Amino acid sequence: MLRTRGLAKEFTGFRAVDDVELDVMPGTIHALVGPNGAGKTTLFNLLTGFLKPSAGTIEIDGHDVTGMRPERIAQRGVARSFQITSLFDELTLAEHVELALQGRDGQGYRFWRSDKKLRRYRGETADLLEQVGLADHASRPAGSLAYGQKRALELALALALSPRLLLLDEPTAGMGAEDVTRTIELIQRVRADRTVVLVEHNMKVVGDLTDRVTVLQFGKVLAEGPYEQVRADPRVITAYLGESVAQR
Ligand code: ADP
Ligand code: MG
Repeated sequence: MLRTRGLAKEFTGFRAVDDVELDVMPGTIHALVGPNGAGKTTLFNLLTGFLKPSAGTIEIDGHDVTGMRPERIAQRGVARSFQITSLFDELTLAEHVELALQGRDGQGYRFWRSDKKLRRYRGETADLLEQVGLADHASRPAGSLAYGQKRALELALALALSPRLLLLDEPTAGMGAEDVTRTIELIQRVRADRTVVLVEHNMKVVGDLTDRVTVLQFGKVLAEGPYEQVRADPRVITAYLGESVAQR
């Protein structure tokens, strides 16, 4: 589903992503882990066209998308969520989802569409909010949501694009245990018919959800394999995961 070769991104003076070879099999959940500053978000920005690589290639589903603009990569079935929440406080949940659906359909993002035009998205909007457990909150402004609910809404916005490849940047960051459990269930529910790559620090989430794990350090791939294998790798334990995981 996703293949990178020699992928690199240079910022002034250093390589944030350095010669990364990533292979993500269709239908899997693949975790990207590594210390802060390892280059995980930069890698996501490369994969989605938000940044142009300094070197290397990116293939999605066998198509070379290297250097393509974000909209074109999105058209290839790639959607992402962001590490930092990016919602409009005054817009309702339903309005957020309707805008995402308009974007998917190439309508551009318009706030002033007539009710009639938006009505066609009503059913799909309700479905998406239902999928992420927010059906009862459709007409609330996003600013009034609890943190975990905001992250769930962001997942709905990514799902609105019907992606085949879903990239989630720290979907459980800043969540309490209850929201983490709900998010794990949510990702399990939405994984059907798609491939998921997630950046994740919470090793319970990685262990529960993922088929394979790639560990990044200083922009390079340090280790890659099934979770059980990677977490037992002494280099990984030393580099990042630490004793808490070695003891799990
Ligand atoms: P991670 O998501 O793994 O924590 P990032 O990809 O955000 O790491 O960052 C990797 C490195 O690249 C960090 O040292 C960060 O400061 C640097 N970096 C990220 N974006 C930029 C940018 N636009 N310009 C310069 N340096 C950047
Ligand atoms: Mg990051």
